[in-house]
Amino acid sequence: MAKKEKTTEKKRFRLTLRVKWSVAVGLTIFLTFIIFAGIMYASFYNNLINQEEQTTKQTGDLIVERLSNFSNNLKSGDVMPLMTPEYDSSQDQNAATSAFQDTIMSQLSRSDMTVQIYDRDGQQLFSSQQSSKVTFRFEDQQQVKIVRKNGHRLIVATMPVYAAANHQLIGYVFIVNSMDNVRQSTQTLRLQMFVLGVVAVLFSALIGYVIAYRLSKRINVISNTIEEIDRSPESAARIPKFSGNDEINDLATEFNQMLDQVQRYIEQQKQFVGDVSHELRTPVAVIEGHLNLLNRWGKDDPEVLNESLQAAAQEAERMNSLIEEMLQLTRAEQVESKHVQEVTDVREVIMGVIDSIQMLHQDFAILSDVEMQANVSVRMNRSHLEQILIILLDNAVKYSTDRKEIHLSADTTPQAINIIVQDFGLGISLGNQQRIFDRFYRVDKARSRERGGNGLGLSIAYRLVKAYGGELVVDSVEGSGSMFKVTLPIVVRDNGNEDVEKDSDN
Ligand code: ADP
Repeated sequence: MAKKEKTTEKKRFRLTLRVKWSVAVGLTIFLTFIIFAGIMYASFYNNLINQEEQTTKQTGDLIVERLSNFSNNLKSGDVMPLMTPEYDSSQDQNAATSAFQDTIMSQLSRSDMTVQIYDRDGQQLFSSQQSSKVTFRFEDQQQVKIVRKNGHRLIVATMPVYAAANHQLIGYVFIVNSMDNVRQSTQTLRLQMFVLGVVAVLFSALIGYVIAYRLSKRINVISNTIEEIDRSPESAARIPKFSGNDEINDLATEFNQMLDQVQRYIEQQKQFVGDVSHELRTPVAVIEGHLNLLNRWGKDDPEVLNESLQAAAQEAERMNSLIEEMLQLTRAEQVESKHVQEVTDVREVIMGVIDSIQMLHQDFAILSDVEMQANVSVRMNRSHLEQILIILLDNAVKYSTDRKEIHLSADTTPQAINIIVQDFGLGISLGNQQRIFDRFYRVDKARSRERGGNGLGLSIAYRLVKAYGGELVVDSVEGSGSMFKVTLPIVVRDNGNEDVEKDSDN
């Protein structure tokens, strides 16, 4: 109860997968966007500034080139005709002057560009704007630099003018470009980027949320199923098949398979307990009956006493063998063949088992036909292989009729060994052939009991063969006899040293 409350408590305050996912996706996209946008913005800004620098320098160069035609210190009268639009360029002898003029004029008309001309003493002769944001300073050499003023970047070009004729310093061209257009463009870009960024984040968070919603919806279904199974372990509830083919679907399928298996185990366990108590009931009832008999008359009647004691001892013996076989069955179910290192020579075991059975049942003819090399071995405990063969041979004896003959043959394929035990006894009907490997199943209960059978032999043999990766099958005709075939993967021991796995799977 306390555990449940704690879980609900946790659920109330937790960050759901959907929120975590959306935030993570949103943040990732946002950061990626910021980095990319930053790089783009920086390169765009640098390009614009470079362009402006070029333009400023070109304008300056044009004016300097034109002014260098004068040979004395510049005067207002020299400069003004060049820098004012009213100047009639057709009167100029130099045709190229008009092109110069157009370029200069277009730059002069820019409100963010101040062009000033000074004579060599620093006297201002011309200014395209009323005032400049930077004051003129003498410089010996041409200089174009970026300065910061009131948080803004400005391009300042100072260009001394030398007379072409005598290389005398005759004045200065001074340009200040406050780059208003760059500021405007970058402002617009910043705004666009911000809006785009916000849209990208919202959009990606939304997509993230939808994906997480779909994912968590399926996880919730799984969690509900688990809760239902938790409430009633035998419930038939299973995780439904989701659309799509992904890991969650694999998980659901594996979980359902695991549930099936666990419920099968529980069912088998219940069945086993039921079967065992049922099996023990008969001998206990027989012993109880004889004890009652003794109690009433047997004490004084030596014949009854003797008979009852014998019967009780026989039942106790039966119970003993039943318990022993149940233990063997449990052990057979726990065999982990992958941990088994023992290698057993098959021919040797077959011969040994035939000898023992023959000794016990001398009225039987056990004919063997073992076609295999001496070094054919299987990776299994010797006692387990013996146990399987004893169960099959013992059954062949138990369920024989007039023809007291058993054939045992063995042959190999590259991967496996086949051992066949054939008898000519009662045989098993097709319907019963399906069930004889089940625990406690006997075709004829009374007959089997009479012959000392508990219905566990074949179950033990089947589980052992399966544990070692083999097969045990039956082929039988009722009234004519049965044939049991054991197939086991083989290992060939080469020169008595190295084991070479013949099973292609290994
Ligand atoms: P049991 O201890 O009763 O022999 P098994 O598990 O070995 O139990 O066999 C299950 C049942 O299968 C037997 O009770 C018998 O009816 C049938 N059976 C097994 N082997 C043979 C056989 N060789 N011939 C005919 N019936 C057989």
